[in-house]
Order: sequence, then structure tokens, then C-alpha cells
Amino acid sequence: MYNEIKKYADDHQTTLVAVSKTKPIADIMALYEKGQRIFGENRVQEMTEKYESLPKDIEWHLIGHLQKNKVKYIAPFVSMIHSIDSMELLETVNNQAVKTNRIIPVLLQFHIATEETKFGLNVEEAENILKTLQNTPLQNIQISGVMGMASFTEDEDQVRKEFKQLKVYFEYLKGSYFQDDVLFKHISMGMSGDYKLAIAEGSTMIRVGSAIFGGR
Ligand SMILES: *Cc1c(COP(=O)(O)O)cnc(C)c1O
Repeated sequence: MYNEIKKYADDHQTTLVAVSKTKPIADIMALYEKGQRIFGENRVQEMTEKYESLPKDIEWHLIGHLQKNKVKYIAPFVSMIHSIDSMELLETVNNQAVKTNRIIPVLLQFHIATEETKFGLNVEEAENILKTLQNTPLQNIQISGVMGMASFTEDEDQVRKEFKQLKVYFEYLKGSYFQDDVLFKHISMGMSGDYKLAIAEGSTMIRVGSAIFGGR
């Protein structure tokens, strides 16, 4: 499936994040040999261990919920954090980025699903963060866009509606806070079951695991 998904992503100018959580080093290396360089993990410890034993030109994306006290372990090498859901977390990422002399690209995670359990901001919370940053900018983070997870449902219309909503949030924030910032450009949405829908609704980055690596 990898070649097919990679081609689909490339044909639509969408970045493919291969989600390798729970999968062994050998599986990641097999994909690496095919040219894949961007991998996503949802746990800090697992990502750090894999970073240490795999080639250093891999770009590691943290896609899962991130606890503040664990940011220090990934700050030296993480390529993008998709799961920023509070000002406190953003400040922690900035502080750790300062320590390792890096600028870390991050996405604001929005709650778009109907399930209560999924993490993420609403528009008001995101705006509060962005207004705070207008007054006191953080120099070592780069807000590069938004991320969201659709509801886990067979109902395509529902999923499509949620992706549309995330795109609306993105456009609104872009117009209000990032008009002159070409680096605010990503809409991270779409997983194994819904990446084609997500791309149709404007995704610039899909996060695909099981369709590439098999079930977990
Ligand atoms: C696991 C995970 C994915 C990938 O899910 P699949 O259905 O296996 O493609 C994408 N995004 C997040 C945040 C995840 O935790």
C-alpha cells in the first residue's frame, strides 16, 4: 500500500507522514529504503528510542498528546509537533527549543470530532493563544498551521464536515494572524480511513499508519 499512498499524496502536493507508532525499527527501515523520510509517533519515549537507533535524516513528527514534562526529551531533534493544545505547552516547547538553540515548527490542534475524548482547542482558545503571542512573541517556535482528527465513524458526510470546519479555522486564522507569514501553511488532517476525503477538503499533510504498516 505504501507506494500507492505515497503516489496519491505526491499527486496532490500533500505531505505523507508515515505513522510508525508501535511498529518495529525493521518496518521503519523498510520504508526508509523506499525513500520515506517523515515518520510520525505519538509517544515521546518510543519516538526518542527510534530516533536514537535510526538514520539521522529522518524527520520525526510528534502527533500524539504531549505532556509538558516530556518536551525536553524531543526538543533536540523533533521536526514538527502537531499537538499543541495550550499556551503552557507552547511556552514549554519554546523554552526547551531555546535550550537546544532550535526553532521548532508546531501545529495548533483543534477539536473537530464529536467524541469528547479527543484533545484540541476551539477557535476561541486558539485566538487567545495567538493574541497572547502578538503581545509577547515566542522566538523559538514556528506556528506552521493546524491539525485535527475527525470522528471515528463510517459517516462520510460527518467526516467531510469536520475536515471542512478545520479548513475554515485555518483560513480564518491565516487571514487574522498570519497574513504575511508564508510558513503558516499546513492543515494536518487525514488518516488511513479518511485521507482521500481529507485531501479533497484541503489537507496539506496526511498522517497514515495502519494502511501502510498493517494493523496495530
Ligand atoms: C495513530 C494516529 C494516526 C494514524 O492512524 P491510522 O488510522 O493508523 O492511519 C494519525 N494521527 C494520529 C494523531 C494518530 O494517533
